[in-house]
Amino acid sequence: MQRTRLRHAAVEPSGADRYIAVMSSATLFEPPPPARADALLSILIAPHAVLKARARPVREGDADDVRALLPRLLATMYKAPGIGLAAPQVGVKLRVTVVDLQQDNVRAPITLINPEVVAASEERATREEGCLSLPGQYADVTRPARVKVRYQDETGARREIEADGLLSACLQHEIDHLDGILFVDHLSALKRNMILRRLAKEMRQKAQ
Ligand SMILES: [Zn+2]
Repeated sequence: MQRTRLRHAAVEPSGADRYIAVMSSATLFEPPPPARADALLSILIAPHAVLKARARPVREGDADDVRALLPRLLATMYKAPGIGLAAPQVGVKLRVTVVDLQQDNVRAPITLINPEVVAASEERATREEGCLSLPGQYADVTRPARVKVRYQDETGARREIEADGLLSACLQHEIDHLDGILFVDHLSALKRNMILRRLAKEMRQKAQ
């Protein structure tokens, strides 16, 4: 997810107040080696077939690939800059995403492997979203205000996050990417097409 304009960031409570991470035992992966191969990845721009595809779950046999991917995914997100990046956005069709709201410019990355929304509030919230795969495009998106997300962290430990505010929207936005859904897919066809046309035009102009 792209960092949106500051009027939203300014009213958010601190990250620590907004989620509780619960850890349990099962370990799928060895701890990652010291980050070294953090070469940047190219971010796919909509419309791209991979962005519309459903990513497959990470399995034990993917451990090496995921371990190699994570530092690069994070480095690419920070460089963009963004507050969330999903593996399909860099052409990797695995259910992996990274999120870091970087509040007060402090890095606190969350790595989510095979994340799923296991509970969502009836109450809905609307906030402006952007996406690194639709650079420069923003729109108000309405989603459940609070969600509970179950996932595995980079060590394979099973965890749970309860989130509201920006973190809730960001988690839902990133998990959507794993199902081939972009934030514009939550808008009317009219608005979506307007944004996609504007993006295509801006990309054409940039390429000239
Ligand atoms: Zn996105």
